[in-house]
Amino acid sequence: MIVSTVTTIGIQCAKCGEVQFRTVSVFDFSHFNEESYCCSCGAPIITLRSVERGNYSIEYPCIYCGESHYIVAKRGSIWGDDLFPLTCRGKELPLGYIGPRHKVENSCRDIKKTFVQLASELVNDEETESEFDNFFIVYAVMEKLGKMVERGQLGCRCGNYNLSVEILSDRIEIVCELCHASGVIYTDNKEVLRILDGVGSIFLEENMKWCLNDSYKSHHLVKNK
Ligand SMILES: [Zn+2]
Ligand SMILES: [Zn+2]
Ligand SMILES: [Zn+2]
Repeated sequence: MIVSTVTTIGIQCAKCGEVQFRTVSVFDFSHFNEESYCCSCGAPIITLRSVERGNYSIEYPCIYCGESHYIVAKRGSIWGDDLFPLTCRGKELPLGYIGPRHKVENSCRDIKKTFVQLASELVNDEETESEFDNFFIVYAVMEKLGKMVERGQLGCRCGNYNLSVEILSDRIEIVCELCHASGVIYTDNKEVLRILDGVGSIFLEENMKWCLNDSYKSHHLVKNK
């Protein structure tokens, strides 16, 4: 078994969904027995702790279930030549890998793909309710808002196209900082994704608090459905 002094961690951030890479040296653990790494968005992505017999305990927040996962890895699986997988629920959902840089980078290519695929399956799935729902809804809404921005379909009547977006536990708030118009998109129900597709564009109005779910209800009534 080849044991090197550096290893690479590639892991998907539980907050923003981006895959991040960090190079870790065995010497990082010579003074402190713990190293934590954060995403470029500021959220913590992984903590490694050296424990007894050269083993490591690893903790990472999970984008799928919203919990933190704890595992213990042997020294050789961190610094060795094989990939050590970081997953949710056994091996089903990959979040990242630890190992030699080129192998980690190769294997991480599919992580975002798997995630986006699961998100779109959920969006198209009429029946089943998944425990991962809320995160996927937030993610899918952000994707849709991003596309609206690209097409110039998200803005404020005052002429401002640079709106600020805040993600809260049950909703996403859109605010125009020039005229204080605001909008709310509730993310506690995946129906919101279909509503958003139906609306097509969002323009806030000064002194108004626009709510996507309300605008849909009135639309819904008019259609007498
Ligand atoms: Zn992040
Ligand atoms: Zn998980
Ligand atoms: Zn405005």
